[in-house]
Amino acid sequence: MKTSRIPGFYNMSVEDRRQLLKKMQVFSGEKANDFFSEEPLSLDTADNMIENVVGTFPLPLGLGLNFLINDKEYIVPMAIEEPSVVASASHIAKIVREAGGFQTEATDRVMIGQIQVVGCDDMDIAKQALLKAKDTIIEAANSAYPSLVARGGGAEDMDVRVLNEASDSNYTKMLVVHIYVNTCDAMGANIVNTMVESLAPKVEDLTGGKVYLRILSNLPDRCLARARCVIPPALLADKTFSGEEVRDGVVLAYEFADSDPYRAVTHNKGTMNGIDPVVIATGNDWRAVEAGAHAYAAKDGHYSSMTSWSVDEKGNLVGELELPMSVGTVGGSINVHPMSKFALDILDVTSAQELAQVIVAVGLAQNLGALKALVTEGIQKGHMALHSRSVAIAAGATGEMIDMISKQMIDAKDIRVGKAQQLVEAYKR
Ligand code: NDP
Repeated sequence: MKTSRIPGFYNMSVEDRRQLLKKMQVFSGEKANDFFSEEPLSLDTADNMIENVVGTFPLPLGLGLNFLINDKEYIVPMAIEEPSVVASASHIAKIVREAGGFQTEATDRVMIGQIQVVGCDDMDIAKQALLKAKDTIIEAANSAYPSLVARGGGAEDMDVRVLNEASDSNYTKMLVVHIYVNTCDAMGANIVNTMVESLAPKVEDLTGGKVYLRILSNLPDRCLARARCVIPPALLADKTFSGEEVRDGVVLAYEFADSDPYRAVTHNKGTMNGIDPVVIATGNDWRAVEAGAHAYAAKDGHYSSMTSWSVDEKGNLVGELELPMSVGTVGGSINVHPMSKFALDILDVTSAQELAQVIVAVGLAQNLGALKALVTEGIQKGHMALHSRSVAIAAGATGEMIDMISKQMIDAKDIRVGKAQQLVEAYKR
């Protein structure tokens, strides 16, 4: 049976890690060839993906280990340039697996397409006309994408809102139609855009108004994924801090973030530290996920914490995260970029819903990793030690110098590029 517990992985060489993964058969052989090649994304492919291509821009790909989610083992590919993120996610995943793992769930993958209508003689009459024709509008949307319907998805609901109704509004009164589309395993932006564009003439006929924008909303609040973990305090203890101290510190940190946008944004950045690398590694649109997540964090009228942390009646720390998660396992660049195919292969998810659940579990783990460090030794000790290699490289260290200079900076408790430059010069003398 596949396991995500790989003791000692951290201390292996890259080559040994690759060989071990091969031996463990965590991916199929043919995809490994792309992964192991020096240029996994060819210039030809890149040139067909975007415009004005002059090269590619690789990122480190690490593996988040120890994830047990709904009793299934996940090795999580994470593409990110920031040190300590992968280590921290794996550390918390190990604690949570000892507590039984993450529990997750996801709604159907229902995305929203918006149609903006202006210039109707009477907005309320126009709105009623649209609502009366709801079934035919949904049918028309589906006839623009029959292959999605054949898969069991398609447009399934519609509603209409009037914006800027107040007489003192500075903005134009307008109707906004929402078409709700189950996009199955695709993120669905192109699918939804095709549907809403096709509806424009019908909407103009029904309302007597003029349609301007016809586009996906990146706040898909019917496409949600949730993760939860329950951790006995004993699992949170370290050499200096009791589990209860860590647990209470995490809850206070959450209360701070939930009450103050200046803190919430950093708290949420820590959560997105876990989410973005998986979204990127699987070839998904991280700008869409980022935009939706931050908008959802303000859904109650003020920007606040994405996660919540509380204590249950048994004294356990309970963490929860619910976010819109517009990701796919097909479509966009997912089947084009060899690395995203490889990442999905390692992750071993069978649907976009399952991928969304893994992503929120990693986000929850990452948030706890940051909070646990913040309420104990502080973020810098662990982070800067892991960052020290990048600092050494930035100062010109190469080969064996990197480890040596990194260690000297850690011992001197002075991890800065200036210090590293001095050490590089001293080494060369
Ligand atoms: P695609 O246009 O690639 O559409 C996905 C395609 O996958 C479908 O047309 C479908 O084709 C095929 N497919 C195969 N199997 C399945 C399945 N099980 N479920 C669903 N579809 C399946 O991509 P998306 O519509 O997902 O759009 C994503 C892209 O759009 C991303 O690259 C994103 O960056 C971009 N984008 C984002 C915007 C935004 O966020 N605001 C705006 C515009 C674009 P068929 O039915 O023919 O087999």
